[in-house]
Amino acid sequence: MRGEGMLFDPRAVAALARRIRAAASALGRRVVLMEVCGTHTHAIAAAGLRRLLPPQVRLVSGPGCPVCVTPVDYLDRAEALAALPGTIVCTFGDLMRVPSSRGSLERSRAAGAGVRVVYSPRDALDVARAEPASRVVFLSVGFETTAPTIAAALAESEDSGIPNFRILPGNKTVPPPLRALASDPGVLLDGVLLPGHVSVVTGSRAFSFLAEELGVPAAVVGFTPADVLRGVLELVEQLRDGRAEVANLYGRVVREEGNPRARTVLDRFFEPADAVWRGLGAIGSSGLALRPEWAHRDASRIEVAVPEPVEPSGCRCGDVLRGSIEPPECSLFASACTPDTPVGACMVSGEGTCAAWYRHERRTAKERP
Ligand code: SF4
Repeated sequence: MRGEGMLFDPRAVAALARRIRAAASALGRRVVLMEVCGTHTHAIAAAGLRRLLPPQVRLVSGPGCPVCVTPVDYLDRAEALAALPGTIVCTFGDLMRVPSSRGSLERSRAAGAGVRVVYSPRDALDVARAEPASRVVFLSVGFETTAPTIAAALAESEDSGIPNFRILPGNKTVPPPLRALASDPGVLLDGVLLPGHVSVVTGSRAFSFLAEELGVPAAVVGFTPADVLRGVLELVEQLRDGRAEVANLYGRVVREEGNPRARTVLDRFFEPADAVWRGLGAIGSSGLALRPEWAHRDASRIEVAVPEPVEPSGCRCGDVLRGSIEPPECSLFASACTPDTPVGACMVSGEGTCAAWYRHERRTAKERP
C-alpha cells in the first residue's frame, strides 16, 4: 500500500488544491486537521501537500505510527526477555533502533542477547518450530491492521502444537485515542483524516462517535496524494457548512461494518485492555490483551526485572504525537536527532512524523518565516 501512496496525479492534485483554497476562504478562522496513519504521514510529506494548503488549514500528524506510540517500558521488558537464557525475541525491524531506557534492541543484540528481525508473526512461529528448545517471544506491536495476523499465528501455534511460541502484547486500537484527543480541550482539533488500512478492519462506523457525540468531522481516506486532498476538502467543506459527519472516501476497500472475519479471529485471542501510549498516557480500552485462557502464550507473565522507564532527554515525541508541535519545533530536530542518530521513536520508524519531516520537509520548515 505504501506504493499506492506514491501515485501522483498532478492535475487532480492541483484541481483539489484550488477547491480547498476556495472552500477555506469561507471558513473565517484557521482550522487544524489531524491524520492518524503512518502511511498518510509519509505520503503527505513526500508529496509536499502542506505547501499546497492555504494558511487557514493546518494539517498535523497524530498518534498514527504504532512504533512511535509504544512506551519505553515495553521496550525495556523486551530487552529484559531477550537477555534470558534460551529466549529468542523476534521483532519487526522498525523496533530495533527505538531508544529504550538503557539502549535499544539493536544494542542488546550486539551485546549477545537473543534478538531476531522477522517480517511477519508467521516468521516468528517458524523460528519457534525450528528451535523447539528455545522460548520464542514475538513483539506484538501494531494497530487493528496487524493484530489479525498475530491472532492467526497464535491460532496456528495452537493447532500445530508449538508450545514454545509466545507474544508480548503491545497492540493498540485507534478509536480510543481519537476520542481522548477530540475530547481534550487542550488539543486543537477541528477534523480528522481517518486511516484507510485500520478502517478496513474496524469499518467506518467505529469512528461515528467523532461526528455524532463530539461534533468533529471525519473522513476515511486512501493513500494517494489526491485521496488525501479529497479528505481535506471534505473536512473543510463540512466545517464551512457547520456539518459533522464521517465520510467514507475510501469506499473501494472500506465498508461501514469493516471486516467481521478479521475481528472474529481477533476476538478469539484478544480482549480490550487499558494501555499506555507514548505522549498520551494511559487510555481506557485502547490496547489488546490476551484473553486469560491464552496465558500460556503471554510473555508479559514471565517474571523478569525491568528498570524504571527513562524517557529520552529533550525529546518532544509526545507533543508531536498529540499534534501540538511540528518536528522542527523540537530543539533536537536535525541536530542531535537525525535518522542516523535518533533520540526518540518518532525519528526511527519510517512511519514516524519526525523521520518524514527530516526526509521530505526540512527545506520547507527552514524556508518558513
Ligand atoms: S526530533 Fe527527535 S528528539 Fe525531537 S521530538 Fe522528534 S524524535 Fe524526539
